[in-house]
Amino acid sequence: MRLFEDSYRHKGLRKKLTDLLRTKGITDENVLNAINSIPRHFFLDSAFDEVAYEDRAFPIANNQTISQPYTVAYQSQLLAIKPFDKVLEIGTGSAYQAVVLAEIGAQVFTIERQKQLFDNNKQFSLLKKYLGIKFFYGDGFEGLPTFAPFDKVIVTAAAPFIPLKLVAQMKPGGKMVIPVGEGEIQRMMRLTKLADGSTTEELFENFSFVPMLEGRNG
Ligand code: SAH
Repeated sequence: MRLFEDSYRHKGLRKKLTDLLRTKGITDENVLNAINSIPRHFFLDSAFDEVAYEDRAFPIANNQTISQPYTVAYQSQLLAIKPFDKVLEIGTGSAYQAVVLAEIGAQVFTIERQKQLFDNNKQFSLLKKYLGIKFFYGDGFEGLPTFAPFDKVIVTAAAPFIPLKLVAQMKPGGKMVIPVGEGEIQRMMRLTKLADGSTTEELFENFSFVPMLEGRNG
């Protein structure tokens, strides 16, 4: 069961979480404001209400996770999300990351390969407020060619390699943030697409995501 009441206690815990993220190096005010305003406890089972604002990942349905707030903030900051950015997200999961992007004002296209997680989000009342998010059930390795190109691409599962189909769906000047690696630990990478279609790569910190898997799971 989930609780949908946002109390002063929750708001206070959220402010503390935002302050903690600042001390960890998050400086993008768009990102910090979004995290400070989104009731993360709505995304979790009520059993996690006491700990929803700790800087930790938590389990959701189907053996998947809601990413750690630091990770959500870190990927969002690397993408320098701005209002009206057209963003492709791979791995909707709990939809928390998608809501952070939408709260900043981005137009979000998010794909989930697990049917049950996709269906759960259809019942999630908070999401009705975010008309800027479009939900898709599909395989993130394919991206969304019909809606391409995108200003930003965010991959929120551990990618074994950089999917070329996603690179093809980036605008010139666009950016992709993706954790790459086949083991327990992945390296956060940022790709920038240049005007001639080539890309440059930058390497950042290590993270640990659930794996990006091929195909849909229905
Ligand atoms: N962004 C999410 C993080 C969820 S964890 C959040 O904020 O909660 C990663 C998610 O990626 C899982 O739900 C998993 O099912 C999904 N996933 C893994 N491989 C995928 C693929 N190829 N296409 C789409 N989603 C995928």
